[in-house]
Amino acid sequence: MVRVMRIAALVLAAGRGERMRSALPKAFVPLAGRTLLARSLAAMACVPEIDLVVPVVAADALERFAALAPERAGIAKLGAAVAGGRERQDSMAAGLAALPPDVGFVAVHDAARPLVRAADVTRVVAAARETGAALLVTPVTDTVKRVRGGLVVETPERSECFAAQTPQVFRLDLLREALAKARAEGVVATDDAQLVERLGGAVRAVEGDPTNRKITRPADLAWAELELARRAAEEAA
Ligand code: C5P
Repeated sequence: MVRVMRIAALVLAAGRGERMRSALPKAFVPLAGRTLLARSLAAMACVPEIDLVVPVVAADALERFAALAPERAGIAKLGAAVAGGRERQDSMAAGLAALPPDVGFVAVHDAARPLVRAADVTRVVAAARETGAALLVTPVTDTVKRVRGGLVVETPERSECFAAQTPQVFRLDLLREALAKARAEGVVATDDAQLVERLGGAVRAVEGDPTNRKITRPADLAWAELELARRAAEEAA
């Protein structure tokens, strides 16, 4: 089968990760002996639909990334690292600008989510191929309040509330258009789907797995080690 448009993954790792309280940038913190970044790159690379994996790291961490070469050796489909920007959206834009011209879809993934499962990435890619935009979500278990200035202003219906995960997958021209509109209007979003939502297009929400958790604090790292051990035991059984 001839594939016309390739699918690239951008793995965003240029955040400082202050809540991790580590001397290392968060993406370089080890989880069971391997950095979060290397684990996230490998997780995306092992998805059959993904053709190219592009790391986006802070400009002052490019050398540190290059020094991880032995660790990266086992990661297939790896493109050259790109320097990220001040906000997550700037890092995403820098990654987009570096993609080769034959890329038609892009899967934007947080390096801080190293436990994403290949089958979930495959499902969200398939959904994005249908609508042009899709993301992984999980239902929230807590009731969600919208709070402003210490006062509750709204309680959205819980059954309609989901937490946004990554990867978020887009037709590349659609994401580029959404980014240009956001920039023109001075909008900075905390995820990429928001930008496409602002264009008014359909964004498919694909239910993922709660273990695709964002590693943010030291307690998340401890939890992730247990989850990896649980998966290893499951595979061995
Ligand atoms: O800070 P936040 O939780 O939104 O970060 C999500 C992901 O985006 C992380 O993997 C982080 O490294 C990345 N990021 C980035 N560039 C920034 C800020 C965050 O690549 N300027």
